[in-house]
Amino acid sequence: MAMTSFAVEDNDARDRGGPQQPLLTVNGLRKHFAIRGGILGRAKAHVRAVDGISFAVRKGETLGIVGESGCGKSTVARLLMRLVIPDAGEQIFDGDLVGETQGISVAEMRRQMQMVFQDSASSLNPRMPVQNSIAFGPIAFGTPKAEAIGMARELLVKVGLNPALFGGRYPHELSGGQKQRINIARALALKPRMIILDEAVSALDKSVEAQVLNLLQALKRDLNLTYVFISHDLGVVRWISDRVMVMYLGEVVEIGPADELYNNPRHPYTRALLASRPALDPDNRREEAPVSGDPPNPINPPSGCRFHTRCPHAEALCSAKAPLLGHQHHDDHAAACHMEDPASGHSQAVRH
Ligand code: SF4
Repeated sequence: MAMTSFAVEDNDARDRGGPQQPLLTVNGLRKHFAIRGGILGRAKAHVRAVDGISFAVRKGETLGIVGESGCGKSTVARLLMRLVIPDAGEQIFDGDLVGETQGISVAEMRRQMQMVFQDSASSLNPRMPVQNSIAFGPIAFGTPKAEAIGMARELLVKVGLNPALFGGRYPHELSGGQKQRINIARALALKPRMIILDEAVSALDKSVEAQVLNLLQALKRDLNLTYVFISHDLGVVRWISDRVMVMYLGEVVEIGPADELYNNPRHPYTRALLASRPALDPDNRREEAPVSGDPPNPINPPSGCRFHTRCPHAEALCSAKAPLLGHQHHDDHAAACHMEDPASGHSQAVRH
């Protein structure tokens, strides 16, 4: 792959299925972490961190993933990158099954899919000038060092840092926002098509966060990128996302276009989550009670609908049977709740 320029490529030769084919499709992704104990270290229980989720990321979109801490959203990021090995499920990258024996290998997928974490300080080598950190990936893939450093300096410009001023600096000489810009440059160094941003702006001051969000939007446009944007901050997710996926206790409970989901949330958990935000706009206050109590333990999640222990609309059916995330309405917006299914038997089931 030629790696001398970061100019926009109108026709990315790696684009296999055209715009209609999702860049990433995930089917039945599952990860249960064993909790070991005793002198033999046997598994005593399992945390059901991600429990059989399916979704697709379309080319050029930003898919936001939200949910309370412990809902599994960061595990999803690590599973997608294969930093954590899934127990089950398949992952398809632009039409190719990800696997070592067929389709696309994990190593090749990682060239096309990069990740930026929240902790900007610890993801950079403290003993390496930042331009060398950015050049590290391309050098590992065989780009001559001088060429890779040239690319790194080009990327510094792209992320809004003057290479003459910043290229030779060490991480401790940079602010949090500058370090996160370096991490973004590093993620871009292998010319990925997709970036997973896991709480990537959450640690920044609000004004710096806004600048980095604007930078991410500009880079996405200029470099034809696709984002998965994971955050607990509902306002930021709405601002940056085309579609939003809401997770609760390892499952997807709702997915839909961002404006539609925020204006017309269909799952009681999403409604409660949105209601628990500090209301900045007094005309836009919601009547729904904020979600109360802590999420149940993911080691032994509630039966049926996992939200039934906190849901104001729960009925006997809800603890007996898990609702499916169906596209009941033949639009892009779906929620896993019995009230969304007119045939479920829930007394408040409605037809949209
Ligand atoms: Fe509430 Fe039942 Fe819907 Fe679950 S399925 S969100 S418990 S109404």
